[in-house]
Amino acid sequence: MSDHPRIPLAGVIGSPVAHSRSPRLHGYWLKRFGIAGHYIPMDVAAADLETVIRALPRAGFVGCNVTIPHKEAVLGIADIVTDRAALIGAANTLIFRRDGRIHADNTDGYGFTANLRQNAPDWQPGSGPAAVIGAGGAARAIVASLLEVGTPEIRIANRTRARAEALRAEFGARLVVHDWAQAGNMLDGATTIVNASSLGMVGKPDLLVPLDALAPGMTVTDLVYTPLKTRLLTTAEAAGCTVVDGLGMLLHQAVPGFERWFGVRPEVDQATRDAVLSE
Ligand code: NAP
Repeated sequence: MSDHPRIPLAGVIGSPVAHSRSPRLHGYWLKRFGIAGHYIPMDVAAADLETVIRALPRAGFVGCNVTIPHKEAVLGIADIVTDRAALIGAANTLIFRRDGRIHADNTDGYGFTANLRQNAPDWQPGSGPAAVIGAGGAARAIVASLLEVGTPEIRIANRTRARAEALRAEFGARLVVHDWAQAGNMLDGATTIVNASSLGMVGKPDLLVPLDALAPGMTVTDLVYTPLKTRLLTTAEAAGCTVVDGLGMLLHQAVPGFERWFGVRPEVDQATRDAVLSE
């Protein structure tokens, strides 16, 4: 280790990673707080993952984000895995500690609830059932955080039913699995509705779940943020629901990592959104 002050480095490891908005987000915060640091995208193949991660601290990295397809594999590389990341089975934030150990956490659930609390201040997760569409990696983080904030029942439907059943087996009886073909019915009477599938994203098929049950009093959010206003959100808004887009989750999940790496807790505000959305 060198004895002079080093410029702190962080970044995001994935493959592909060129589409990631994280470099723009962290780059904006670094500039805003006048921190002499850098955040870079790193396209790393699965076979090189451990070698690259183990070398990063020696190159001046203080940590990094991890994205698809490496979020699960990093759990086997990290020396310390938070309970939350272990429960979810994936990590998105690594901290390279001064003692040489690699600490892995998952901040997606935090980003999810912080986004709803900021943009739907009247949201009461304990006031009624939630309906979650999808049972992939993101859905696991959403289910864990909804349970943590006291949601009494989580209805879940997924194209591949076995994945939803697996979540129920792991997370317990507060989860109720619904048939994918009947997913529209589980929205009836739910107070929180989440699209945690990739349906509706640019380049993916539309989310065709019937939305007739959407009604005022429901809080509806979509993890998909390209486009920003998905068909789910547009329909929900027209039905009088409170709607929250998925960009806020992306911004909020980045806060704990930035704070641990660079020592400043950034605020998610309109200027942050604008910076990430600008071309
Ligand atoms: P993932 O693990 O690959 O899961 C994808 C999910 O979408 C699964 O439930 C999958 O169902 C479903 N799906 C995909 N294509 C489908 C189709 N044609 N018909 C029906 N269902 C389909 O991905 P993930 O990591 O959970 O991410 C899901 C979405 O959330 C992505 O769009 C991602 O960009 C977004 N996301 C956003 C944030 C944020 O900060 N806003 C954070 C994380 C993820 P099967 O199980 O049947 O394949």
